[in-house]
Amino acid sequence: MSNVEPNPTDSRHTSGDGSRVPEVEVHSPRDVPLGGPRAMTVRRTLPQRSRSLIGAWCFADHYGPDDVARTGGMDVAPHPHTGLQTVSWLFSGEIEHRDSLGTHAYVRPGELNLMTSGYGISHSEVSTARTTVLHGVQLWVALPEEHRHTAPDFRHHVPGTVRVGGAGVSVFLGTLAGVTSPVPTFSPLLGAEIVLEPGATAVLAVDPAFEHGLLVDHGSVRMAGTPLRPAELGYLAPGSDRLTLTNESGDTARTVLLGGTPFEEEIVMWWNFVGRSQQDIEEARADWTAGSRFGEVRGYDGDRLPAPGLPTVGLRPRGRVRRAGEGDSPRR
Ligand code: MN
Repeated sequence: MSNVEPNPTDSRHTSGDGSRVPEVEVHSPRDVPLGGPRAMTVRRTLPQRSRSLIGAWCFADHYGPDDVARTGGMDVAPHPHTGLQTVSWLFSGEIEHRDSLGTHAYVRPGELNLMTSGYGISHSEVSTARTTVLHGVQLWVALPEEHRHTAPDFRHHVPGTVRVGGAGVSVFLGTLAGVTSPVPTFSPLLGAEIVLEPGATAVLAVDPAFEHGLLVDHGSVRMAGTPLRPAELGYLAPGSDRLTLTNESGDTARTVLLGGTPFEEEIVMWWNFVGRSQQDIEEARADWTAGSRFGEVRGYDGDRLPAPGLPTVGLRPRGRVRRAGEGDSPRR
């Protein structure tokens, strides 16, 4: 997916006012139209003004269920990425992926498609003619400094589903419920779809060094006791070795659990690029415009996306929440 938010960078968080921090932070999504000829709108829960990252997860877009006859579905022309990985995870529909490595893949429900940009990759994403309802998430992972110039890569993995209480858990990255995804990550990371039966409670053993985010697709779910509505993202700080999820409704609930060890680097994020400085971003933009670094996507019917203009104010780095009085040791 391509980030078309007009000014997605200026969300450096501010220190709190000393008020008590709730155990689970609840983040509401904001609607972001993807632009272009299609009318598709996504619900963005990451980054937030008050929280830029959960582990290395730096971007979370949630969309659908969309009737593609009405919205036109997804058609994202070739565009570049650097310094990140993209995770495409669908609940319904099908997306055709092409990238500058020559990968031609179909993204389908319950199947992980992980694209590592490393130093540079470009790709296109188009919902297929078979798709009637498009529904899923697009997630980005920031690459740590020592790996952000790595070679581009594309991985496909179909996780199984294991039962934990009244929950079905599909682990696409990392380890949960005794299952470890074979797909390697560049920092300690967790990504899983968790479907809860009506009225079900699941107690999951989690890594206490991880912070966690729970995105609710549908249903009424409590995360560690805090109720979350559909499309909200709950955040739980490190320190817990178990996470309790409860579906209070009479219908099935579906969630996506993200986790990781706190990402200690500050990043600069603009358009489809993650870097460490304004200069990184300016160079990536110039390389895309010049037709270098990001290769070529073959087989897409149309022109590639032009880079938007850089904002006139400087891009600011952002990182983990730092609250008043915590200095450089924000770990709780
Ligand atoms: Mn993309």
